[in-house]
Amino acid sequence: MASIFTRLINGEIKGEIVHQDEHCAVLKDIHPQAPVHLLVVPKKEIQSLGTARLEDQLLLGHLLLTAAQVAREQGFDETGYRVVINYGEDGGMTVPHLHLHVLAGRPLTWPPG
Ligand code: 5GP
Repeated sequence: MASIFTRLINGEIKGEIVHQDEHCAVLKDIHPQAPVHLLVVPKKEIQSLGTARLEDQLLLGHLLLTAAQVAREQGFDETGYRVVINYGEDGGMTVPHLHLHVLAGRPLTWPPG
């Protein structure tokens, strides 16, 4: 069965897509943890960072550059932002379809909780 993100990208369930290209889509997170909270999602259903393979390396680079591009477009180049990938139970991963979180719009504390 397709992941929740794939169904969202395909328009089968409702969600807000702010950017899309051949390889990925950028969605607004349904439970934002910052004033801006976006998810950069590859259209290829890679389950997680831990299951990404050498053949995915160009795609992984594209996801990072897309995260930087959307953050720049939304005006966060000067104030900054955070890009996060959660993996596994301790990492807090809840959706088994690789995605990068882009968090911006407030000072983010470190270390994360
Ligand atoms: P994870 O915990 O796997 O790193 O992140 C999953 C993210 O997906 C969470 O921040 C969660 O709020 C978001 N999310 C889960 N279901 C949906 C949904 O149906 N729509 C959108 N836009 N985001 C979702």
